[in-house]
Amino acid sequence: MAKHYQNIVIGGGHNGLVCAAYLARAGQSVLVVEAANEIGGAACTRELVPGAKVSSGAHLLHAMPADLISDLGLANHGLSFSAQSIKTVSLNADGPAIVFDGDTVKGEDVSAEDEAAYQRFNADMQRMAKALRPVFDKLAPEPSIETWAERLTLLGLGLRIRSLGRFHMRELLRIIGMNFYDLLDEYFENRQLKAAIAMDALLGAEWGARSMGSVLTYLYRLAGYQRSKGLGLALPAGGMGAVSQSIAAAAKAAGAEIRTSAKVKSILIENDKASGVELDDGEKIQAGRVISNADPKQTFLKLVNVDHLDTGFIRQIRNLRSRGRAAKLHLVLKAAPQFKGLQEADLGARMLIAPNMDDIELAFNPCKYGRYPEEPVFEITVPSASDGSLAANGQHVLSAIVQYVPYDDSAELDANRAAFLKTILQQLERYAPGIGKQISHAELLLPRDLENEFGITGGHWHHVELVFEAFLFNRPVPALARHSSPIEGLYMCGAGCHPGGNVMGIAGRNAANQVLKGGQ
Ligand SMILES: Cc1cc2nc3c(=O)[nH]c(=O)nc-3n(C[C@H](O)[C@H](O)[C@H](O)COP(=O)(O)OP(=O)(O)OC[C@H]3O[C@@H](n4cnc5c(N)ncnc54)[C@H](O)[C@@H]3O)c2cc1C
Repeated sequence: MAKHYQNIVIGGGHNGLVCAAYLARAGQSVLVVEAANEIGGAACTRELVPGAKVSSGAHLLHAMPADLISDLGLANHGLSFSAQSIKTVSLNADGPAIVFDGDTVKGEDVSAEDEAAYQRFNADMQRMAKALRPVFDKLAPEPSIETWAERLTLLGLGLRIRSLGRFHMRELLRIIGMNFYDLLDEYFENRQLKAAIAMDALLGAEWGARSMGSVLTYLYRLAGYQRSKGLGLALPAGGMGAVSQSIAAAAKAAGAEIRTSAKVKSILIENDKASGVELDDGEKIQAGRVISNADPKQTFLKLVNVDHLDTGFIRQIRNLRSRGRAAKLHLVLKAAPQFKGLQEADLGARMLIAPNMDDIELAFNPCKYGRYPEEPVFEITVPSASDGSLAANGQHVLSAIVQYVPYDDSAELDANRAAFLKTILQQLERYAPGIGKQISHAELLLPRDLENEFGITGGHWHHVELVFEAFLFNRPVPALARHSSPIEGLYMCGAGCHPGGNVMGIAGRNAANQVLKGGQ
C-alpha cells in the first residue's frame, strides 16, 4: 500500500527544507517533493562548465539566524564558510574606490565628515533595526486585539519602539515610509558613498532609491545582519548550495524523505481539505497536510483548482507583484580579474558598481517600460578568490547581480539577452580593463530564465515584491499571513510569506511551528 505521510512539502528550496527539518524533528513524517533534479531552489550551486561552479541564484549569506544554524546543527551537516564578514568595495571607473569594513568607511574622496556621519548613520539604523527585528524574525503579528496573545504582541512592538527613546522613536516613525535617497542626503555628501549604501535597500526589488519604502527594506536587511550574529556577508564553502545541502542533511537525519525530479502537477483536495499531491507523471501521494514552498501565484493559480477558492482571494493573488528585476551574470575567467582601485587582496570582497544615486534611478527607469538599462548597477563577487573548490587550474568564477531588468518573455528574448550581455560586458570593461579577454564562458540569466531555472513565477527574488501592501499581516495577502490558507490543511512556507525572501529560513521555520500548532 502506498505510504501516507503526515506532511508533504512542495519544493525543496531552503525554506521547504527548513520546514521539513523542523517537522521531522518534532516526530512528524515528511516528504519533500522537488521539481528540479537538485534541491535548494534559488539557494544552490551549479557547474557552469567542467571545473567551474557558481552559486546560480543567491550568492551571499547574510540573513540566516544564528540560532537556526545551531538548532539544526548545520555545521555538523557540512556547512562551513570560505569567508565571513567580507568588506564591501564600491568601485569607481575614474577614481578611487570606497571601502566599507564593519562600521567604518574609507576612501581617498571620502571626507572626515562623511566618515563620522557613517558611524552615526550606522548606529542610528542598527538601533532602529534592532527594535523592529522581532517583527521580522517571528510570525507576522495579528492586527487584531481579540486575544491576550495578540494584545501582548502588539504591545511588545509598541514598547520596543518606545524604548528607542523619544528622539529615535520619532525618527523611526518619520523615516520608515520615506525614500532612501532623501534620508541618505540628510547624512552624507559623497555621491558614490550614498549609492553604495542605497544598494543594500534595492537589491532584488523593483524600486529605486527615490521609491517610498526603501528605508524599510534597508532596515529589513540590517535586521538580517544582526540575527546572523557576526557572520556578516558570508560566502558558504562550496557555494550557496552547501547551505541547502546541509539543511537537507539535517532534515534527512531527523527522518524526512526528499525526492527530486518530482514536479507537483496539482494539490489534491477532498471534502474541502488538502489530502496530498499529484505529480507530473500521474503518481498520487496522500498526506494529512500539504505545505507549499512554491510561490503564491503558482500554488493558488496553477496547483489548486480555482473552484476551491473564492474570487476575491484569486483576484488578490493574481494582482501580486512578482516580476523580477534582478538578473544574474556568471563568468568563468582564465585568470584573476583586476578591478581599478581594488587591492589584489580584496578580490574576495563584495564589489558594487553604482556611481551615484541618480545613476541608480536612471538604471531603474527603463525597466518600468519594458526596456533594458544602458548602464545597469551591479553587486559582484568573485567567490573563487576565497574558495578554490569553485574553480580549477587558476581559473576564477565571477557572480554578479545586475539590476534593473525587465521581465521579458517576448519572442526576442534570446536576442535581447545577447545584446544586454554585450552592454554589461562593455560596462564591466571600464571597471576591470581586460576582463573581456579573460572570459572563457559567460552566462546571463534574465528574470524569465530565473523563472524557468528555479520555478519562481516572474523570477522574483522575494517571490512577491517586498512592499508595504504585501508586508507583515498583509504578506502576501491577509488570508495567508499566518502560513495557513483558505483551504484546510494547505500551508505556505516560502519567501512569499512573511518576512520575505533572502536565504534565511525564517518562513520555513515559522510555517513548521504553525503546522505543529494546527495554527490558523
Ligand atoms: C538572482 C538572485 C540572486 C539572489 N541573491 C541573494 C543573495 O545574495 N542573498 C540572499 O540571501 N538572497 C538572495 N536571493 C534571494 C533568495 O535566493 C530567495 O529569496 C530564496 O532562495 C527563496 O527561498 P525559498 O525556499 O523560499 O524559495 P525557492 O528558492 O524559490 O524554492 C522553491 C522551490 O520549490 C520548487 N518548486 C516550485 N514549484 C514546484 C512544483 N510544482 N513541484 C515541486 N517543486 C516545485 C522549486 O523548484 C524550488 O526548488 C537571490 C535571488 C535571486 C533570484
